[in-house]
Amino acid sequence: MNNFIFYSPTEFVFGKETELQTGTLVKKYRGSKALIVYGGGSVIRSGLLDRVKKSLDEAHIAHIELGGVQPNPTDPKVYEGIELGRRENVDFLLPVGGGSVIDTAKAIAAGIPYQGDFWDFFTGKAIPQTALRLGVVLTIPAAGSEGSGNSVITKADGLKKLSLRTPEVLRPAFAVMNPEVTYTLPAWQTASGITDMMAHIMERYFTNTPDTEVTDRLCEGTLKAIIKEARTVIKEPYNYGARANIMWAGTVAHNGICGTGREEDWASHFMEHEMSALYDVTHGAGLAVIFPAWLTYMADHNVGKIAQFAERVWDVPASADLKAVALEGIARFKTFLHEIGMPTTFGELGIEHPDIGLLVAHLHENKGEQIGSYVRLDRQASREIYEIANR
Ligand code: NAP
Ligand code: FE
Repeated sequence: MNNFIFYSPTEFVFGKETELQTGTLVKKYRGSKALIVYGGGSVIRSGLLDRVKKSLDEAHIAHIELGGVQPNPTDPKVYEGIELGRRENVDFLLPVGGGSVIDTAKAIAAGIPYQGDFWDFFTGKAIPQTALRLGVVLTIPAAGSEGSGNSVITKADGLKKLSLRTPEVLRPAFAVMNPEVTYTLPAWQTASGITDMMAHIMERYFTNTPDTEVTDRLCEGTLKAIIKEARTVIKEPYNYGARANIMWAGTVAHNGICGTGREEDWASHFMEHEMSALYDVTHGAGLAVIFPAWLTYMADHNVGKIAQFAERVWDVPASADLKAVALEGIARFKTFLHEIGMPTTFGELGIEHPDIGLLVAHLHENKGEQIGSYVRLDRQASREIYEIANR
């Protein structure tokens, strides 16, 4: 096991009607004027935004709004938010939505006090030293941004989707999580979110670092719970228990606990980010296509942990033929993804002729010549994985 720091200071306020505590929480974390950020309008239609605003009013917190954040969020909305926040002198960011809304709010929170261009943080030119405080009202379990210090933004001009990782500066002070608000999610978004949270665990699970049995078992146990609850939630979208378990799993998957003590991989996420930058696909659905292809490649190049995943997560009987075990596990994973309505090939995702040459070029220009750690991937290897995903 490697040395590690696990720092997860977010206050999670979980359960029915918890959005009514938002005002009190903003006050507790010393906000006096909040910039509410939201997406395309689901929070207006569901009445959630009104309940949040009422709670702010009751706590005497002033508030203004920035709506219209789109999935796979882009930089113009961040610039708009930075300008609005400065002009209006806000001291708190309050995203009400999913990963796209939260990540936009995080970029705004870091951008407001910064003299230069906020995009410097995403290209690595600068590291944010400070940010406005931020609290989250989560509406979709998926990205795990409510418990992470990360933000992912696409530069619209040039279609570069890059991420910023700053655990100390950008972790939300609080996250309000009411599973009931997820009842209105379209099945596609529910399933994409489930796939994304599984991927967040798997990026941490596939590692060569030895002696991390506790972390392995946390990963495997959470994956098994997700698989079980996902089957229920897809059939019964109003099942509170299943929605609640899926919602909490999304946070556990990505707040860092599943990666403690070891090197993480993240190649599949990097490969997917190029797909969603180029084709604007839903992030989780893109991962449903790329992760099985990555696993298939790994069955030939570093089978050990893939076979363990097959045995412990998908209940494939152990055998001396590790590759056969691994491939059976991958087949069961794909069957599960189909069961919840996810695609597992480019074609099923609606991309009949992916420009694999361009994806590979963007991937290595944006992320370096070698990506991942379970097996380091060069251009030839990432091309092979995109090609497996296209079969
Ligand atoms: P999202 O893009 O924030 O939202 C997806 C869609 O779901 C939107 O159309 C949204 O509609 C709708 N929606 C959300 N909540 C709803 C509800 N309760 N009822 C009905 N519709 C609802 O989804 P996401 O998967 O959470 O975020 C994806 C983004 O996060 C991607 O850009 C991905 O790369 C990024 N990501 C970030 C991290 C991180 O650590 N920061 C990790 C992984 C992925 P409205 O717009 O109308 O609300
Ligand atoms: Fe993700």
